[in-house]
Amino acid sequence: MTGPAPTPWDHPAPERAGLPSAWSLFPEDLEAMGCPGSAAETFRRLHRPWTWQEGAPVLGSAIRAWLEGVADLHLPGIAERQPSGDGSTKLALELEDGKRIEAVHMPRRVRNPRVTYCISSQVGCAMGCTFCATGGMGIVRNLQSGEILSQVLVLMAALGPQRGHELTLVFMGMGEPLHNLDNLHRAIRLLCHPLGLGMGRGRITVSTSGLVSGIEKLAMMVPRPNLALSLNATTDEARSRTMPVNRVWNLARLRQALDNWGPRHGERFCFEYVLLAGENDTEADAERLAQWLGELRRGHNLNLIPMNEHAGSTFREPGDDRVQQFSDWLKARGCFVTVRRSRGRDVQGACGQLVKERPAP
Ligand code: SF4
Repeated sequence: MTGPAPTPWDHPAPERAGLPSAWSLFPEDLEAMGCPGSAAETFRRLHRPWTWQEGAPVLGSAIRAWLEGVADLHLPGIAERQPSGDGSTKLALELEDGKRIEAVHMPRRVRNPRVTYCISSQVGCAMGCTFCATGGMGIVRNLQSGEILSQVLVLMAALGPQRGHELTLVFMGMGEPLHNLDNLHRAIRLLCHPLGLGMGRGRITVSTSGLVSGIEKLAMMVPRPNLALSLNATTDEARSRTMPVNRVWNLARLRQALDNWGPRHGERFCFEYVLLAGENDTEADAERLAQWLGELRRGHNLNLIPMNEHAGSTFREPGDDRVQQFSDWLKARGCFVTVRRSRGRDVQGACGQLVKERPAP
């Protein structure tokens, strides 16, 4: 007998002896659990890596002993660092159960303390996009909110920046963030907490492959991060071929979800379009893309990302001339286009290249 296909919800992250991660708790949780000191100060020390020493928070002995009894103080370890020639660094982080995720640290280039992290929301991914190395792994499990949070804090402690307001986060690493929405949103609320990193919601972008049910839920949540949509095809036939999510929520349904999102003042969608040579890079594609965007073509960013080739995919990167031509076709149709050469390409840290298996012993 065959049961229903497994979903990411069938792959919960393990909790050590049922204890929540210390990084998943708000000050009011710490208070309610009987924190023997100031819950606000304990939260501050846990969530501000610039106050840490030797990669861990500085806690008084009484607080530490209490926390060890009620919560899990494990932090992911940095298992590998691969610096790229473009200044970014790809990191492999090892979780408590030995699973690995990847993140990319991307500093701004010249005399600017701001840093962007590309971070993960799942180990592997269930969405199966055919051009993506992570998709080839399948789903292993969701990250818990504390794991998402501690991923950010560990990177900050190791590589900076020194403060939350110098940080920008994009959930474009391993996983479909909206498949893990509850943990994702709890992590976002923790990231925005004024006693922690105090990030503004506008500095957090969640990228989805087009999971309409998740888009509609996220639209109602507070704080609401920026939304990026990975589009990558202009007909249902082609999109269903490369992005199976389109078989459930097609392009028309996706466009309707964006209309219902209703961008607020200053909020912009980001559209990502991975250019695959000979697959989605014709003038007819540019025309359909502009049509699909409609009035959204003005004032919202459309990023063209030439395919990052990797061993697990037969798709190829278009030549520079075709990339420029495609960009020009879109601009002539009123689109606001940026060609984005992904950073970290030489260490397989770019979009659609993040994949992590433990090395064979
Ligand atoms: S592109 Fe994103 S959603 Fe698609 S398989 Fe890769 S990680 Fe998952």
